[in-house]
Amino acid sequence: MSDFDPAPALGLTEESSNEEIKNAAFQFVHEVGYMVFGTTAIDGKMPTARGLEVHYLDDAGNFYIGIAKGKPVYYELQKNPYVVGTIIRDTVKRLSASVRLSAHVTEVDPEKHPEIYTKYWELNPGTKALYRKDLDMFRIFILDSGEGEIFHLPDDDIVCRLRFCFGGACVRPWAYVIAQERCVGCGTCEEACMEDVIHPTADGKYEIKHFGCLECGRCAMNCPNDAIDCNCR
Ligand code: SF4
Ligand code: SF4
Repeated sequence: MSDFDPAPALGLTEESSNEEIKNAAFQFVHEVGYMVFGTTAIDGKMPTARGLEVHYLDDAGNFYIGIAKGKPVYYELQKNPYVVGTIIRDTVKRLSASVRLSAHVTEVDPEKHPEIYTKYWELNPGTKALYRKDLDMFRIFILDSGEGEIFHLPDDDIVCRLRFCFGGACVRPWAYVIAQERCVGCGTCEEACMEDVIHPTADGKYEIKHFGCLECGRCAMNCPNDAIDCNCR
């Protein structure tokens, strides 16, 4: 059993800024050092995944990954330069804290940014040994824009989730949002909510506190007025 025991939502709250959430998420990944990353296979259909080391290689707090030029994932990123990554850590109660990232990646030119490669080899002597015959076979990519989420189950019946973005991307919309102009304030969704995170507003409508939302959809399925938008269909 893990002795990892983070504060709920890694110590953040609904009031935390985008930068605070992003930094906490990146630090969470950095402490482990690798993520499972998914890309789109060269046929454009089947998702593929592999574990990759993730590093800070500059002073701006950007994440970088490294790949050999001949690997299938390198060709996949040439064709479709996007990755999705996730990392999960079990807590002492066998509940999990996790971070998800979806990002655009750009290959770093070793001639324009030799310092990035130098730092990578300093941090990865084992990888350097693997590619010792020809270090030019290796390419580094920066995750230059994207969005992600901290998702934490600090106890059996509690969900904490916080979203962030970086590099000019937008935060992913919440899956379920009450359309205030269609809500008649009947309260059915408050009763239906799996996590008790729907509450009345001052003007007699209802709203979802997304920090604790499971995104299960039960509220939308039970709203008699079709007033809860689903952003994932
Ligand atoms: S069930 Fe629908 S109409 Fe009723 S309070 Fe909830 S969102 Fe509004
Ligand atoms: S999606 Fe589920 S947890 Fe979220 S507000 Fe609706 S019923 Fe509650």
